Amino acid sequence: MLPEARERAALLTDVHTELRLDLTSTEDFGVEATISFGCTEPGASTFLELNGGTDVTLDGRPAAYADGRIPLTDLAAANTVRVTARMPYVTDGDGMTVTVDPADGERYVCAHTSMDITQKVIPCFDQPDIKTTFAVTVVAPSHWTVLANGPLEERASGEGADTWRFGTTPRFSSYLFTLVGGPWVSVTWDEPYAPAPGGTLPFGWHARASQERELRRDAEELRRITSACFQHYTTVFEPEYPYADYQQVFAPGLNWGAMEFPGCVVYRDQALTRGAPTELERQWLASTIAHEMAHMWFGDLVTMRWWEDSWLNESFADFMGYDVAGTAAGYSDAWTSAAISRKPAGYRADRRRSSHPIAEDTEKIVDVDTAFANFDMITYAKGNATLAQLGHWLGDEDFLAGVNTHLTTHAFGNADLAAFLDSLDSATDKDVRAWAAAWLRTTGFDTLRVTRDDSGVPVLTREGSRPHRLTVSAYDDDMRLVSSRDVHLGEEPVRLEEFAGRVVVPNSGDETFAVVRPDERSWAAVTAGLSSVESQLTRAMLWWTAVDLCESQAIGVGELVDLADRHLRPETHPLVFEGVVRALQTVVRRYAAPGEVAAHLAVVSDIARGAVEGGDPALAPGAARTLARLSADRTFLVEWLGRDDFDQNVRWAAVHRLAELGDASHVDAEAERDRSVAGHHAALTARAAIPTPEAKEAAWAQLMGGELGSHEFHAVGAGFWGWEQADLVRPWLQRYVTDGLALAQRSGQAMGDVIGDAFPVLPLDPDVRRGLRDAVASALEGDVPTVLARSWNDSLDDLDRTL
Ligand SMILES: [Zn+2]
Repeated sequence: MLPEARERAALLTDVHTELRLDLTSTEDFGVEATISFGCTEPGASTFLELNGGTDVTLDGRPAAYADGRIPLTDLAAANTVRVTARMPYVTDGDGMTVTVDPADGERYVCAHTSMDITQKVIPCFDQPDIKTTFAVTVVAPSHWTVLANGPLEERASGEGADTWRFGTTPRFSSYLFTLVGGPWVSVTWDEPYAPAPGGTLPFGWHARASQERELRRDAEELRRITSACFQHYTTVFEPEYPYADYQQVFAPGLNWGAMEFPGCVVYRDQALTRGAPTELERQWLASTIAHEMAHMWFGDLVTMRWWEDSWLNESFADFMGYDVAGTAAGYSDAWTSAAISRKPAGYRADRRRSSHPIAEDTEKIVDVDTAFANFDMITYAKGNATLAQLGHWLGDEDFLAGVNTHLTTHAFGNADLAAFLDSLDSATDKDVRAWAAAWLRTTGFDTLRVTRDDSGVPVLTREGSRPHRLTVSAYDDDMRLVSSRDVHLGEEPVRLEEFAGRVVVPNSGDETFAVVRPDERSWAAVTAGLSSVESQLTRAMLWWTAVDLCESQAIGVGELVDLADRHLRPETHPLVFEGVVRALQTVVRRYAAPGEVAAHLAVVSDIARGAVEGGDPALAPGAARTLARLSADRTFLVEWLGRDDFDQNVRWAAVHRLAELGDASHVDAEAERDRSVAGHHAALTARAAIPTPEAKEAAWAQLMGGELGSHEFHAVGAGFWGWEQADLVRPWLQRYVTDGLALAQRSGQAMGDVIGDAFPVLPLDPDVRRGLRDAVASALEGDVPTVLARSWNDSLDDLDRTL
């Protein structure tokens, strides 16, 4: 935390912000802000942030506006300042984002803010520990709906433009300010809530007009999940729900999965899929709804004092998201999806050089870009798993009591990790500070190993430094469960006397964050009988163990694919099936020898074909997309496209695959058929996949031209590096480094992120891989923007594991 920020937080009290925003011009938008605040040291000076404004005035006169700041001098004990400005719209998702819907030409404006971004929209004291109320008025085209953090109090019609006035909000941090405008379609209802005036609160789901069919299709389920989570949280959390309504918007142009704006949560609009979602996608949306709602209390009501504690907001909300989606909203296999798709991302992030303690040292968060780069899978996946382990270690009741003390003590204020630990400490006899030192202040993960002593008794040993509470299960030789026990594991090995002669699987309930290494005999039984294990959660954990053994090069890719050939075909649980299929594709492309990739993927494709032909409706959406993406059979794909009953997501996968195989004749027709934003992106992906030098050159010019929005960039990047196109795309490997760096240097965080995501992942000969490695390494010795540098360092680590 910078000294000037600390000083400003101490100087200012009782901040109130009144805003009038005019969105009627398509060129730029107008802001009038009246900000009142107290000052603890009359005579002192401070400043407001405002980034990119023009015609800036302060109290009616041209402001001394420079370097993104408006100086406020000679403050009184009570102050009111009035700022006006014209502000630019953006298309990269960092600020007041404009999107024109390709389906109908309608314009949408969304204030996508976050740390240090709100100042690109309004003048504000832009730091998390200065909270303000907001009273917002918006002038916008008459056919729009406008939503903001507060509840709508009045809408007045004017000529061609209406005025929306929103009620004053409770105090919250500036990074949580939002508003969205456009011709949204809406599904609204009154949610029962006893403490509210009238006993209900206004709730709603909103989407672009062109997504009306999808919103109506999913409305009942979206409402059901929302209500279930809300009723759950208002029962378990002691502070009342702090805001006057709860709106959720599928907003275009958002760079995140979702964002927890108080009373007005936004989700990326891709989450409302045109075709049938896969089970992992359905699970993700349910967990994300629960995640964002948890933030209303943890993050919005109680906010971290400074960015170094952002992880705690995210880890906590992510943990609650999976937990509550299961316990309250009926997604009872949420932790199975975590075991096979979320936690692995945490392990992978944690074995990279860039790994960092979940709670990073304050001095290391040198700026906002560094804090942004740490919104990674250490924060989300490992943080989530670690808090789940904390809850298990403390017991649910004590954990929740500590959380409630925290929420009650710091409501409408800020708190840091030390304060959170104080709250937990007040609820338990256990040493939570020692636990935090072992789990939150360190990097890496422990290995839980089973060995047999001379008399054949299994012994569980921890390699590492953390306390664990976990379930250990014993199986017979056919992998039928015999018994399980609860184990506290520390430095001392634990002898499992009663499991002598049995197959032993540690962490069978996947409660802790550690990799497991069963003894040879147990592992042989697991690989022979994996699909016979009854618990899908244990199967998911064991599948991840197999993937991890492969990524650690303890077993070959061929062995993993063989395991899938035997045990994934009979797999009926959709989350396990889809999670393993996804993992296999990544592992094969990354780790297999280039000459073997096609054969391995053919097995995966055939497993997917089996699931499609098997007709299980839960497996079908995911399996069909995989089959369409991997099939080498053009005739089959063209026939598929000819059928009218085919899901839009599968159709696009087939169109992409055909283009990749050299038949681009279906792209234009499909783009005509699906004029949605998702269709626009899918067409970009398919065109970038066409295997000719001309098509690659055209895609490259588009990619690096600086005209694409971040989602469009992602779409082109997703098609460019076809896994069979290593020879063709070879000239672009070096250009990716030079052109990507040049583009990142003239763009913001969001583009830095997607440029990093477009890193070539395809089977390359070792010397080509080394060439790419060296090019990235030497670029990193120069001046690379923080967000891209972090991403490239991670990609280098991943490359190094394959060399
Ligand atoms: Zn979050």
